[in-house]
Amino acid sequence: MSASASASTDPDLILLIISSPSGAGKTTLTHRLLQEFPEFRFSVSHTTRRPRANEVDGQDYRFVDKKDFQKLIDQGSFAEWAEVHGHLYGTSLTEIERARSEDKHGVLFDVDCQGARQIKEKFPDAVGVFILPPSMDELRRRLDGRGSDNEESRRRRFEKAREEIEHYPFFDYMIVNDELQQALAELRGIVLAEGCRQWRVAAKAEALLER
Ligand code: ADP
Ligand code: 5GP
Repeated sequence: MSASASASTDPDLILLIISSPSGAGKTTLTHRLLQEFPEFRFSVSHTTRRPRANEVDGQDYRFVDKKDFQKLIDQGSFAEWAEVHGHLYGTSLTEIERARSEDKHGVLFDVDCQGARQIKEKFPDAVGVFILPPSMDELRRRLDGRGSDNEESRRRRFEKAREEIEHYPFFDYMIVNDELQQALAELRGIVLAEGCRQWRVAAKAEALLER
């Protein structure tokens, strides 16, 4: 399927983009959301970053070298790609095709703001959610407490946070991830409401009217 063919509005597939400054908690929230909504598929990105200790290739990311990443760019395989914190990250178009062929009701994209913009351009009905930390001090604590990045990487991520937050007006929803259960409830609410959009349910009303 070509990128333009994928862009047609599909009422049965919610494209949910989740972005945040690194360390705000989007991985934590997306994992919890996927447990609750198994009918959603996590879009597994390609990256040239090295795997963290707890990450599984093909599950968290598809870890590739720069040469293979470039090959995928040249083949037009990505719905979007960007350089983030000094590494390349990209969403393959096949992630959306797979969700359709598996009859899923949603695809969850964990991407940065550049990726969010590119996905929205291709798929205007995609829903953008931005996760905020409760404070910059707490963001730093979370980045340090995660224990998965070295000091240089943590510093780079923290310094980039302000720049990322400046993109907030682009998003449809914002969640302050202070208390995790509350943030999760808000995310759940967004997913449920998006599934009830008039244009998503319209065909059912029309079917009733035809009887
Ligand atoms: P991101 O994916 O946005 O980079 P993570 O989900 O990896 O962030 O979260 C960063 C760290 O903050 C992790 O150690 C995670 O356990 C912790 N964390 C996430 N949400 C909360 C929260 N609401 N309260 C306290 N700690 C949190
Ligand atoms: P991390 O290295 O912490 O897993 O991710 C770093 C940043 O890259 C995060 O903001 C994450 O959302 C973003 N990211 C992950 N996958 C993709 C992707 O496929 N495309 C883009 N544009 N960003 C991504």
